[in-house]
Amino acid sequence: MAKRDFYEVLGVQKNAPADELKKAYRRLAMKHHPDRNPDSVEAEDKFKEANEAYEVLSDADKRAAYDRYGHAGIDPNMGGGGGGAGGAGFGDIFGDVFGDIFGGGGRGGQQRSNRGSDLGYTLELDLEEAVRGAKVKISVPTMTECEPCDGSGAKKGTSASQCRSCNGSGQVRVQQGFFVMSQTCPSCHGRGTVITDPCGSCRGEGRVRKQKTLEVKIPAGVDTGDRIRLTGEGEAGAQGGPAGDLYVQISVREHRIFKRDGADLYCEVPIDFADAALGGELEVPTLDGRVKLRIPEGAQTGKLFRLKGKGVKPIRSHAQGDMLCRVVVETPVHLSSEQKELLRQFKQSMSDDGNKQSPNKDSFFSAVRNFFDGMTK
Ligand SMILES: [Zn+2]
Ligand SMILES: [Zn+2]
Repeated sequence: MAKRDFYEVLGVQKNAPADELKKAYRRLAMKHHPDRNPDSVEAEDKFKEANEAYEVLSDADKRAAYDRYGHAGIDPNMGGGGGGAGGAGFGDIFGDVFGDIFGGGGRGGQQRSNRGSDLGYTLELDLEEAVRGAKVKISVPTMTECEPCDGSGAKKGTSASQCRSCNGSGQVRVQQGFFVMSQTCPSCHGRGTVITDPCGSCRGEGRVRKQKTLEVKIPAGVDTGDRIRLTGEGEAGAQGGPAGDLYVQISVREHRIFKRDGADLYCEVPIDFADAALGGELEVPTLDGRVKLRIPEGAQTGKLFRLKGKGVKPIRSHAQGDMLCRVVVETPVHLSSEQKELLRQFKQSMSDDGNKQSPNKDSFFSAVRNFFDGMTK
């Protein structure tokens, strides 16, 4: 069964403020609550549906993801198996792009003080690279594991010893009035170990500042605003702590010919006015090369022609978009006197014919006449 739109489920507008959402949800939850409808499967389904919708829309991050990507932005079962788009070290692209939004990945409570920081990197791509996918080398200033001490921070041949203040637990007990409280050990900062003989290269830090180069595999179909998480590619942790993650933020450069809107590509094609009037075949560009486009007689500026399947396949969709070509009729310039004379003759033949060849002129000028007549009354 197709999933209903969350806003529709709650019966609110897309821009409804939080308190209105809450009210709508409460009303539905009361109405369909299982306690009130003991034997109704339908009520139970409605109750669950409202719960699910509210759970997403009441969370600003999830709501933003839902507004942008629809159910695919929420449902953890969607978007996987992207036809080998990910590749080694990537994991599931869904997890990578959304993991940060939904706090997945089992970080959280267990955050340790010596974990390396997460890093962000904005990667500019050409439209072609974003659409087709690419391997891009990036260079990031970061902290990497110190080689001489293998990241431990202790001088080669020695190792960190157990902290005597806390006996390795990382926590000390402190008496405060009647209470005994547990606190992070101030001697070892919770690590449980202390380095008595620090490594000379990193001064006991276990990591050094370095420009790190790595190759990022960009899956096909990404767009501006997508984020790719490279787990463990952030800063190295202090004294052997776990590394942070690197977030690669995608930004697609403007293209000279094409504009992208989700799965569709747009382009404007100039067409000379004889071709527009007589119709004919035009050659138009697509990302895969030139394609012939048939123009019917009497094509007007602004007319959109759709080339099915010549658009983009976005990363979270299985459907290929279309190419939309907008024709723009060009007024001829730099005319010779002979050409001008032909145009004058042409104009004369048009007025002899009652201007039937101008589809909008008559109705426009009669509307103008009515407009001014109305003003003089
Ligand atoms: Zn300690
Ligand atoms: Zn070192």
